[in-house]
Amino acid sequence: MRFAFRKPFSTLAVFIFLAFAFWGCETPQKVVEKPAPPEPAPLEPEKDLEKEAAEEAARKAAEEEAKRLAAKPKPVVKPRASLSSQAKSFGGEAKRDPVSGEWIVSKDEMTVRLIENSRKAYLNDLLIFLGEPFEKRKGAFALSKRDFELFLRPAFEKVDESLPSRVIVIDPGHGGSEDGAKNKDLDLLEKDLALEVSVRLQKKLEDLGYETILTRYDDRLVPLADRAQIANRADAGLFLSIHFNGSLNTEALGLETFALTPAGQPSTGSESPGEDGIEWPGNKQDLLNFQLGISIQRNLVSDLQRTDRGFKKARFAALKELECPGVLVECGFLTNPDEALLVRTPVYREKLATSLSRTIDRFMQEYGPEASPKESQAEPVDSE
Ligand SMILES: [Zn+2]
Repeated sequence: MRFAFRKPFSTLAVFIFLAFAFWGCETPQKVVEKPAPPEPAPLEPEKDLEKEAAEEAARKAAEEEAKRLAAKPKPVVKPRASLSSQAKSFGGEAKRDPVSGEWIVSKDEMTVRLIENSRKAYLNDLLIFLGEPFEKRKGAFALSKRDFELFLRPAFEKVDESLPSRVIVIDPGHGGSEDGAKNKDLDLLEKDLALEVSVRLQKKLEDLGYETILTRYDDRLVPLADRAQIANRADAGLFLSIHFNGSLNTEALGLETFALTPAGQPSTGSESPGEDGIEWPGNKQDLLNFQLGISIQRNLVSDLQRTDRGFKKARFAALKELECPGVLVECGFLTNPDEALLVRTPVYREKLATSLSRTIDRFMQEYGPEASPKESQAEPVDSE
């Protein structure tokens, strides 16, 4: 009995055990995914906070800068200066001759011819020496700013300036111990010829009603700086220094007229402005010096039928301190045998004086205090 009782009991136990074991194996075990415990926030060290603040500040600054730039007007991009744009500024036009390679600026009857990489220019065929070469500037052929302002523009446009008075100061070059150029064979001294032509010119101008002053009336030496002061003290309207030329090269001949070199530019024949390339009192008259110089040179060459050596620039002592327009004219080479023979004749010197007096008279009418600027405005500058 005891056995019979225990047996079914143990069988039941085994069954229960197996059933549990089996059920446990068959039943898919539900995997409850526990949420991962939040990672502890890393302790931010103080230096990272600083970095973040700095980045934030930089970001704000960049935003501000972007806003500022957006509000700021964009810079106007200037077209590059070319000869064409320079010519257009006064209503002219520029063209390159494909055969000669020369550039022509023209307006109405006026023509300026320019040679690439050269300081030589031609104003209606009159030779003019530029301060700087006509060359490529920022990729395009153009004149320097000064040559544009003091040569090209005034060659085509009336200069809006006037002479301070109608007093004309004539300056016979050299004198006294300074003979200047000479021709021993013909017994010619520059100082005598310059005085003789000056006296002829003075008479012609006085006949035309002008007040005139000579810086010397006889054979004496007047210091160069004093010559300008004589004109300044007289409140002169115009100054003309009269010279004759000399050269070791006896073939050199012709006529040339000089004005004071503009500040910062080299004189004709020089490569650099040098130490006295500063602004002199005489440079206030650059524009009228140019007009007077080209008028005198053109008329002399034409009236006397001599070689045109050009309108040139130099820093002559007699011109630096001038307060009125003034130029220096070289009226022929005493060292050239043929030209010296011509200069020796009173006829030549009379023609010189006549040409100079006519040009000065016309210049006075155009720019003098009594001339009406509005009337002369319509006339081309170089109509003569
Ligand atoms: Zn001289």
